[in-house]
Amino acid sequence: MGVKSEVIHRLFSKPVTTKYPAVKADLQEGLRGKVEWHKKSCIWCRMCEINCPANAIKIDKENRVWSIDSGKCIFCGRCEEVCPTKPKSVTLSKKVETGTTDRESLKDVYHGENDQDAK
Ligand code: SF4
Ligand code: SF4
Repeated sequence: MGVKSEVIHRLFSKPVTTKYPAVKADLQEGLRGKVEWHKKSCIWCRMCEINCPANAIKIDKENRVWSIDSGKCIFCGRCEEVCPTKPKSVTLSKKVETGTTDRESLKDVYHGENDQDAK
């Protein structure tokens, strides 16, 4: 396609960009966003912590504390992959708007407080 026909084509076709953040992006299937932990099904096996290549997950099994530093997370999905429970107790959500100037706010600390705790 020559330059002239390319220009004409672009003039009459829809833009390929979106007006983000005013218009939210269409998130694709399989997108790996912020890691979420689901305490109801967690069996505290520590597989997610052991297999995380970025050391982003820390588990204090004794005191039932599950924590993640999203500032370290590289969104590889390994934690979800190795989690043995059904449904998975750690999943990658579609939350991608995590920008901040405060690194500390990227740390999430969760406390287990369900029947699993008695195990
Ligand atoms: S997605 Fe990867 S880097 Fe992030 S917490 Fe899970 S295993 Fe670690
Ligand atoms: S989230 Fe999954 S892999 Fe991590 S401790 Fe719980 S059950 Fe084990």
